[in-house]
Amino acid sequence: MPIKENIGYINQIKDEAARRCGRTGEDVLLVAVTKLHDVDEINEAIDCGITDIGENKVQEIMNKYDRVKPVRWHLIGHLQTNKVKYIIDKVSMIHSVESLKLAQEIDKRAAQHNLTMDILIQVNSAEEESKFGITTEETGQMVRDILDSCPNVRIRGLMCIAPFEDNPEDARVYFEQVKALYDEYSRIDHPNLDFKYLSMGMSNDFEVAIEAGSNLIRVGTMIFGARDYSKKQGN
Ligand SMILES: *Cc1c(COP(=O)(O)O)cnc(C)c1O
Repeated sequence: MPIKENIGYINQIKDEAARRCGRTGEDVLLVAVTKLHDVDEINEAIDCGITDIGENKVQEIMNKYDRVKPVRWHLIGHLQTNKVKYIIDKVSMIHSVESLKLAQEIDKRAAQHNLTMDILIQVNSAEEESKFGITTEETGQMVRDILDSCPNVRIRGLMCIAPFEDNPEDARVYFEQVKALYDEYSRIDHPNLDFKYLSMGMSNDFEVAIEAGSNLIRVGTMIFGARDYSKKQGN
């Protein structure tokens, strides 16, 4: 799999999509999603300029952490509260916060490590049963609850996984809904709220997501090829 060429190609599409809406590719962070890929492949991507990687399982981060070159780690998948303690000092941002209980556990563990953890709130704007995340209506209350009770958590923005559509254009409306919330809540004045990331877009829909306002895309398949799910393990 030509990882270097794939990253170059993604950067080109990313730049073109960003320019269509008055931004540049540099305004959009590419997070390489490395789940189910080997440490060698990950290190190759890092050698090709990848600065941020995303994993969706705590166990996989633990297994790979010591063997991956210096990089920023993002937890992008569903996180169980009892596993926060394992990754609190390893990841730079948690994209998948969808309950106050989880935010409070992150807060508690962050305080124990004397750090402030950056989080995104996951919004399931399409209200798909199969996906985690809160509804658009619940987002304002969640932001306020977290600000009220989690001094060691900093809310950096929102994250959305759109429904998989054969035509990615059909996902645009879900991205736009989350972008509208992002613009609304980014105006809140609070020391623990500093919106910088709107995490939307994967291999099949990142171009549309960027046009809808995303500034962080999470791309796996288009960099590394198809995942081998027989390698799947634990949470
Ligand atoms: C796997 C995954 C991705 C990457 O998906 P691709 O289609 O391989 O690009 C992005 N975001 C999340 C939350 C994921 O779990």
